[in-house]
Amino acid sequence: MTTQIAGDTRGTKSPSTLRTTRALSEKLARELDEAEAQIAELELEMATFLASRNASGTDDASDPEGPALAFERSQAEASRALTLAHAAEIRTAIQRLHAGTYGVCVSCEGEIAPARLEARPSAAYCISCASKTRR
Ligand SMILES: [Zn+2]
Repeated sequence: MTTQIAGDTRGTKSPSTLRTTRALSEKLARELDEAEAQIAELELEMATFLASRNASGTDDASDPEGPALAFERSQAEASRALTLAHAAEIRTAIQRLHAGTYGVCVSCEGEIAPARLEARPSAAYCISCASKTRR
């Protein structure tokens, strides 16, 4: 249902922009839902790791399951941090959509390429700024 966006943005901008804004805000809301569901799942996973470690009553060093469990837990923690950052990015994108600054790079105020927004609707930076800030 999003395929109509491409090719429709040439010529007069305003009517298609309105339609695009609604489609985008739905797309972002869906993405935020997914991210939040993923965070909840990861937090549940982490709680399960904690519970099973507490239940076993052994420390990581002597328990053969310990190190693997600790590794999985830190993986879950890392994924959670990434997903939290992604959710925050989506929220900001929704705010910018309402403020009318969506699709504008927050750093150089240049236009973010439509192809980039298609691939990453929550993108706040244009490609050149994103590659500059990435370390
Ligand atoms: Zn930029």
